[in-house]
Amino acid sequence: MAAKSLTQSIFRLVAGVVLLTALTIIINVWMAAINQAQERLDRSLEVAQNVLEQSLNNREKLLINSAGVLTDDFGFKQAVATADVGTIESALLNHGERINADLMALISLDGKNITSSPPLLAVDEVFSYPELLRSVFKNGGASALILLHQELYQVIMLSVDAPAPLAIALVGFKLDDALITQLKNISQLETTIQVLEDNTSIFSISTLNDKQMDVAISQLNSTLDWFSSTFSSDVNFASRQFQLANEFGYQTNIILSEDVDKLFSDFNALQLTIGLIAFAAVLLAVWLAALFSNKLARPLVRLAELAKNISQGDYSKRITLEGSTEEVSQLSSAFNSMQTNIRVREEEIVFRAQHDILTSVFNRYHIETVLDEKFLLASPFLAIGINIFGFRDINDIFGYSNGDLCLKELAKRVASFDGLAARLTGGELLWVPNQELSLEDIAAVKKVLELPIDTGEVVINLKVVMGLLYCPSDAGSAEELFRRMNIVLDESQATKQLTLNYSQQLEERYLRRLSIITELKNTLKSAQHELNLYYQPKLNLTTGKVTSAEALIRWNNARLGFVSPEDFIAIAEQAGFIETVTQWVIRSAIEDAAKFKQAGIQLCIAINLSARDVMNTELLPYVMALLKEFQLDESYLSFEITEGDLVRDPQRAIEHLNEFRAKGFSLAIDDFGTGYSSMAYLKNLPINILKVDKSFVLNLNTNRGDQNIVQSVIKLAHSFNLSVVAEGVENPETLALLSEWGCEYAQGYYMSKPVPVEDCILWHLENQNTKWC
Ligand code: C2E
Ligand code: CA
Ligand code: CA
Repeated sequence: MAAKSLTQSIFRLVAGVVLLTALTIIINVWMAAINQAQERLDRSLEVAQNVLEQSLNNREKLLINSAGVLTDDFGFKQAVATADVGTIESALLNHGERINADLMALISLDGKNITSSPPLLAVDEVFSYPELLRSVFKNGGASALILLHQELYQVIMLSVDAPAPLAIALVGFKLDDALITQLKNISQLETTIQVLEDNTSIFSISTLNDKQMDVAISQLNSTLDWFSSTFSSDVNFASRQFQLANEFGYQTNIILSEDVDKLFSDFNALQLTIGLIAFAAVLLAVWLAALFSNKLARPLVRLAELAKNISQGDYSKRITLEGSTEEVSQLSSAFNSMQTNIRVREEEIVFRAQHDILTSVFNRYHIETVLDEKFLLASPFLAIGINIFGFRDINDIFGYSNGDLCLKELAKRVASFDGLAARLTGGELLWVPNQELSLEDIAAVKKVLELPIDTGEVVINLKVVMGLLYCPSDAGSAEELFRRMNIVLDESQATKQLTLNYSQQLEERYLRRLSIITELKNTLKSAQHELNLYYQPKLNLTTGKVTSAEALIRWNNARLGFVSPEDFIAIAEQAGFIETVTQWVIRSAIEDAAKFKQAGIQLCIAINLSARDVMNTELLPYVMALLKEFQLDESYLSFEITEGDLVRDPQRAIEHLNEFRAKGFSLAIDDFGTGYSSMAYLKNLPINILKVDKSFVLNLNTNRGDQNIVQSVIKLAHSFNLSVVAEGVENPETLALLSEWGCEYAQGYYMSKPVPVEDCILWHLENQNTKWC
């Protein structure tokens, strides 16, 4: 059921109460009036009955007297005795006139009519009421109501005695209209006389017309009740009947009737008045309801509308309810402030849902939606991923709070440019400029982004890498854009190309990297036969003998084929499982060292370690346990570390390397000259060998610059008490130069490429006496 409006409810309530009250009053008054009317009617009927009975009795007495005068009259007696009809007739006439009788008659003792005046009774005819005559004989007289020629008469009959009865005299009065009019005047009620024979009316006279009389008689037994009096017009008369006589098979009744309409005519006026008052009250109720609705209901309706708007997220409308009640205005101001609070909170929630907490630019989820909409527009745009180069280092070196400040400031700078700004993950931001940008524009933006950041504690000089995706050709959806942006930024971090466009090859390389990770993990777990360790001898230039060799890993994968260690070692480092590779290398190297030893070759195997290996505290115990297992001492192993790897936490790296040195292992710094460490820094490292990178050696015989570099590196190394290994020696000229400059060791294709352990043993046996230079 639909909810009723407050205004309607109020109106119905007020109107209902008023109507109910009016109705109750009307019914009560009506019932009281009816009771009163009934009582009044009963009383007046009773009075009328008494009066009527009294007057009929009086008439009877009068009749008896008159008849007595007639029957006592001597002349009359004599005329009867002599059957002098003429005298009898004149006596009857005179007498009748004197007392205003309607019928005077004389009946013989044998019951035959002698004469009558007026001549209603036929002479010599037998009188129709023999019972009456018998009563006269018995009692000397009788009184009765009789019907004669369709008229009702009250008759008195007396015997005419002289002294023996001679005849019977009859004096009669007609009960006619005049009489009942007279009765009506006395009783003030409509009067009807009715004669019934076997309950069928055979005679009636009435002050009512025939129709009314029929109604009055038919309604004899109905009572007055408020319902029928009010709602039906059937009851017109309240009547009461009493019996005048019941003899000769006739029943004579008098019916007194009161006109009900007349009885209630006063009350009808009252009823009308009450009705009018009720109507006025209903009007008043309508007015009151309207007033009330103005004061209360309408504001409530408006508040409800406001609440509906709020629920639909429309907070723009405010409500002012002037002139309403205090409670309503309190409610409306509460609504207004609720609306403001909800709006503020919702804005906050929406802001939080869409923005990154740290940087306040869009978060990844929201920018995804925004970008997807942008893709739908199908107009080309540029998406630039921005990453702090070496963000991990910044966090490590300056602490996370400074790292956060850097990112915040960078995001602020990105957001200050026109376009969309968002943070994707960690130190990765996204900028989608509104307009087209040339490469110069991008370079200018990069410059601004790289302005030094003063965190209050330190000033950080940062470098950013930028990955560029031209959409929709480089990416067709937000998800694709994120994935490819990730690839580009990874690549530019890894390759140190600070601005890099997305290309198909990048993705292919990325996918290859993924499959390398999967395959390498598999290999390490269950297909270690795919791995091989090759050895490349190092020639001791002082003795001309080979006393050491570098172990270099080889991987021939069933699916990927041969994968260069340059590729998979870096990937295993990044993917975090280089330790497992190193473990395999060390175990294999120690097994092979035992093989060399068995072949009578005393060889120190150099193993390459990555930075993670250096930091791994379990590595040294592992190495020691294996050496013990194969009954080899520390001189069978040495280690090579790339200097750049150690920069992140030099202090701990130095500690760990010291532990290696303390065990007696030789440590070489690999790829020297390619990183950014200085000699001063080298001084602090617990190393005893320096390995000049092959890039300086490969063309040493011809390249003057390389010659200068290598020569001075050798000198410098010697001043630090370090031996020098040159790798990448491919010709005898280079070898000769190195030897001349006092370089201690040489490694390169000229002597041998990296070869499997068996080949290396053979090579040794073959080259025992080779003079290399
Ligand atoms: P690296 O440590 O600098 O190894 C020397 C690289 O130079 C080797 O490449 C070797 O084959 C190559 N080489 C040696 N002499 C010559 C030469 O005369 N001419 C030329 N052109 N190249 C020469 P490889 O074996 O491909 O290894 C590449 C890199 O992979 C290594 O560089 C090293 O960083 C890494 N690596 C190899 N094996 C391992 C390993 O077992 N563990 C770790 N952590 N890294 C390894
Ligand atoms: Ca090496
Ligand atoms: Ca190298």
